[in-house]
Amino acid sequence: TPLSRIRNFSIVAHIDHGKSTLADRLIQLTGTVAERDMKEQLLDAMDIERERGITIKANTVRIDYPAQDGQTYVLNLIDTPGHVDFAYEVSRSMRAVEGSLLVVDATQGVEAQTLANVYTAIEADHEIVPVLNKVDLPAAEPERVAEQIEDVIGIDASDACLISAKTGVGIPDVLEAIVQRLPAPRGGDPDAPLKAMLVDSKYDQYLGVICIVRIVDGTLKKGDRIRMMKTGGTYDVDDVGVYRPAMTAVDRLGPGEIGYLNASIKQVRDTRVGDTITHEKKQCAEPLPGFKPSVPVVFCGLFPVDTSEFEDLRDAIEKLALNDASFSFEMETSAALGFGFRCGFLGLLHLEVIRDRIEREYNIELITTAPSVIYHIFMKDGERIDLHNPADMPDPSKIGHVEEPRIKATILVPDDYLGDVLKLCQDRRGIQLDLTYAGSRAMAVYDLPLNEVVFDFYDRLKSVTKGYASFDYEMIGYREDNLVKMQVLVNDEPVDALAMMVHRDRAEMRGRAMCEKLKDLIPRHMFKIPIQAAIGGKVIARETLSALRKDVTAKCYGGDASRKKKLLEKQKAGKKKMRQFGRVEIPQEAFISALKMD
Ligand code: GDP
Ligand code: MG
Repeated sequence: TPLSRIRNFSIVAHIDHGKSTLADRLIQLTGTVAERDMKEQLLDAMDIERERGITIKANTVRIDYPAQDGQTYVLNLIDTPGHVDFAYEVSRSMRAVEGSLLVVDATQGVEAQTLANVYTAIEADHEIVPVLNKVDLPAAEPERVAEQIEDVIGIDASDACLISAKTGVGIPDVLEAIVQRLPAPRGGDPDAPLKAMLVDSKYDQYLGVICIVRIVDGTLKKGDRIRMMKTGGTYDVDDVGVYRPAMTAVDRLGPGEIGYLNASIKQVRDTRVGDTITHEKKQCAEPLPGFKPSVPVVFCGLFPVDTSEFEDLRDAIEKLALNDASFSFEMETSAALGFGFRCGFLGLLHLEVIRDRIEREYNIELITTAPSVIYHIFMKDGERIDLHNPADMPDPSKIGHVEEPRIKATILVPDDYLGDVLKLCQDRRGIQLDLTYAGSRAMAVYDLPLNEVVFDFYDRLKSVTKGYASFDYEMIGYREDNLVKMQVLVNDEPVDALAMMVHRDRAEMRGRAMCEKLKDLIPRHMFKIPIQAAIGGKVIARETLSALRKDVTAKCYGGDASRKKKLLEKQKAGKKKMRQFGRVEIPQEAFISALKMD
């Protein structure tokens, strides 16, 4: 296909504004999929993606569209994950296309992820076509939302497409707009050395690793020997093809085209999103610019509830890691929780997705320790330690200062809830950077410590705004603050799994809350148990769990032996779920609940 008849684009939107539904309609209207094979959310493949309504891996589909000018165009749609955890992947896949449809729900207006995603598209030099969706709903206010797009984003929305992705109204206009308003791919010499971008890769149970590629220069064919320029791996190409959306083999992929390659690559780990693919024999002079591997920013410990499942957990984690280069892990032992793994994630959603998959697909019940960020510990002797686990905190007397990662958070919220949002940000040590209004919505921009956000910020934000706020963030670097390690001691023994980094000013409050919770969660023993929170040697909060006077069987009057036996059995079963800690037994739920803030 000549470049002039190719259009590559993505759809950017806030969650639930109708991206997947629009993609379905485009696929359906062009007859890309037979009517009987049509099902909803065609591009969202993974179960968890479907359930949570998020797209984790980039997907692509090729659509043949006979336009009004009589020519048939090839439209390649790349569907990208819209979530902040996967921001790097999004920005890479955006570079594989030349234009974007900006979908905004005409009943809602611009939201935080609308902004984050459209700015990524603008940075990638995209031509942007605004699309106002859900005009079938009585609450739709397309004029107001068009004005808001111009005010807030600063792009022309006077000729936005007004559509209902649900009913199909306006979809033909979207197809024409793609052809007429989005640019054809630039440059592209079919005879030049191969230069292709690895947009994403995923594991297929039957075929192994499949790479989605965008050809910039040259031609990719079956039988070619290719080289990944950054990772250095070389492979023989078994197959090339395109998604319609079913995998369809083609002879070759040329400049401007997007498709897949299959080259018997064993693990997704061997591929890196953003890498440049070239021919082993005739290499291109320079790789595509701007490659950076994504690095984990949130860490936590994963331990099996049943200690005998440690090997199963190892197996599950290793399998998942094969297909997720951004997920890191190493073995960790905890006096309280036994053997487990310290794992690194791109963000909280990533953490949740992995944890869910381990519990669901591998049937292992997990204890997750408090998520933590990476602190930079500057020692007095000049050494810098990157602290992934509060339990590894060095001797405080040798520490010069501690720096923590900060984020720039953008929050959009209806005016009515603004006060609550500002208070929440203040409580989390936020520094206000900006506060502006667009219509009846406010946009607050805050500089916040990532640590205060990884716990439960998003949940709190949703609850104080009844779900009306939207939130997005980016990392902005490290800053010094008064950060200390808080330990929890049960019966005078430190419980490593409950150690956490806190700001000194908030330590008392957190310590008190933790001790109170544990007092309720730990069952009484035959002796008195002090529960303390401490910084270094200094106790900052304390509760005492009083001693139990009678044993449980004392409740059974007289000789009801079977009842007595039952009770003892119950006790034994309960014990399995306890962790012996010094002389104290702590139930699993105590760890889980104690780590949640409220
Ligand atoms: P995404 O998160 O952006 O992919 O959004 P979806 O395509 O999954 O749509 C979110 C919800 O909005 C779904 O329940 C859709 O059925 C619904 N929806 C999408 N487009 C329209 C529309 O044009 N009109 C109405 N009434 N509902 C729509
Ligand atoms: Mg979707």
